[in-house]
Amino acid sequence: MINIVLFGKPGAGKGTQAEFLKEKYNLTHLSTGDIFRFNIKNDTDLGRLAKTYMDKGDLVPDEVTIQMLQSEVDKNPDSAGFLFDGFPRTISQAQALDAFLASKNQEITATIALDADDEILVERLLERGKTSGRADDQDEEKIRNRYQEYNEKTAPLIDYYNQQGKFYSVNGIGAIIEITERLSQVIESL
Ligand code: ADP
Repeated sequence: MINIVLFGKPGAGKGTQAEFLKEKYNLTHLSTGDIFRFNIKNDTDLGRLAKTYMDKGDLVPDEVTIQMLQSEVDKNPDSAGFLFDGFPRTISQAQALDAFLASKNQEITATIALDADDEILVERLLERGKTSGRADDQDEEKIRNRYQEYNEKTAPLIDYYNQQGKFYSVNGIGAIIEITERLSQVIESL
């Protein structure tokens, strides 16, 4: 069983790569952003709560996010492994994930970052905002706020996983297929 965390700043291409990797390695793809957006679309209590944070580009509170993620993992008891996309995004989420997986005699195999420069990513998100319909993609100030959230709360995870000897990084700039290849090389070396 392999459990991979796909790591990177907003717009780094985690979702795009996850679509290829989940097929290639038979992994269950869990994107917290997608799950929140699904809940918003269906106007659930969770969706209404998440929306107040997401629309501003703020992180949704840990408690809510962790509980949601755990229940999604539990919905897939026969999974051959998970591909976590957009989770964990804080140290407490990472600690909760480690403890949760340990309780099932499992662990994170590797965290793989898609590395890319902020300025390129902001441009990508603004471009995506023209068609994605996402409020958080359409306003440069909200996008900058997401980067600030990333720098303050998510970037410390690099040290967290480095200390466990589980952190890897690939260049996230290039053709989609080339980046899938780079990620595959890491996965196959594990
Ligand atoms: P991106 O990586 O482009 O920001 P996502 O779809 O991963 O897009 O996330 C969109 C928003 O959903 C985030 O800005 C945040 O508000 C919320 N979100 C997603 N994952 C998490 C998480 N693990 N913890 C807290 N908030 C989250």
